[in-house]
Amino acid sequence: AKEKGGNCYQFFTTDMNRQAHARLTLENELRKAIKTHQFEVFYQPQVSTWDNRLLGAEALVRWNHPQRGIISPVDFIPIAEETGLIKDIGDWVLDEACRTFSQWNQEFGLKLQISVNVSVRQLDDLFVFRVQELLKKHNMPASQLELEITESLLMDNPQENIRLLENINKLGVEFAMDDFGTGYSSLSYLKQFPVSKLKIDRAFINDITTDKDDEAIVQAIIAMAKTLKLKLVAEGVENHEQLSRLRDLECDSYQGYYFSKPLPQQVFYERHLLTAES
Ligand code: C2E
Ligand code: CA
Ligand code: CA
Ligand code: CA
Repeated sequence: AKEKGGNCYQFFTTDMNRQAHARLTLENELRKAIKTHQFEVFYQPQVSTWDNRLLGAEALVRWNHPQRGIISPVDFIPIAEETGLIKDIGDWVLDEACRTFSQWNQEFGLKLQISVNVSVRQLDDLFVFRVQELLKKHNMPASQLELEITESLLMDNPQENIRLLENINKLGVEFAMDDFGTGYSSLSYLKQFPVSKLKIDRAFINDITTDKDDEAIVQAIIAMAKTLKLKLVAEGVENHEQLSRLRDLECDSYQGYYFSKPLPQQVFYERHLLTAES
């Protein structure tokens, strides 16, 4: 048994080394990716539950790796957060999204909401300043920009983060609480944070037609949002039954594969702006 334990240990460390090595490689590649502009922003439509009218879009970053192809944010955002590289990536995504949407403002004379994800690691006084500068640079109304935050931001140094969010909120930029219902669900914090929208996590939407508990949770979130005068969007709607259920529950907007996957900028433009003009 001892020998076996020894082997296990050996295997374990080798495995750890391999993991550490893979992580370091990824970190170096991420640094290079930032310098050589390997990122791309995809846009997923957010639409009205009632008539699929386009309300806005969420910006979702992709990494076009020269050898490995498109890498999902799930596979590199956590490391970008750990290493602090998320600051550079996040700044770039924000700039890119604002540039794109202000261009579309000019072209179509409509002001679609653009939602950008923000990690807790990005948030500091410099970020507040950056947001302000970017809005100026792109001549974009602050009300058009929405920033998506998660509950981890509430738990991690709440007083300081409330101060920073309020400073951004003063600019006219609003916040959406992402993945709502998962995590710590600190409802008391919700009141203290300048959040104006809840995004119902797709885990609940996924089972909304098959699991009574999930349906009840969604119903409760919707009721609470209405009481607190918060806007709502349901995430991860994949079929008509789910959409229909959300209509019954009077949830006004949604995003999900049922309407559209996240799309490259040009495809979003052709499919949802050029054709919607009439
Ligand atoms: P998220 O913010 O919760 O984004 C929603 C995710 O759900 C996206 O995954 C989207 O493609 C996916 N999704 C949308 N509709 C459906 C659906 O109907 N079914 C299913 N199964 N999935 C759906 P994606 O693009 O892979 O992004 C994953 C996560 O990576 C995001 O989750 C977000 O936490 C993070 N992320 C993406 N872009 C950025 C960014 O620019 N900055 C930061 N900080 N995080 C980002
Ligand atoms: Ca999000
Ligand atoms: Ca989400
Ligand atoms: Ca998520």
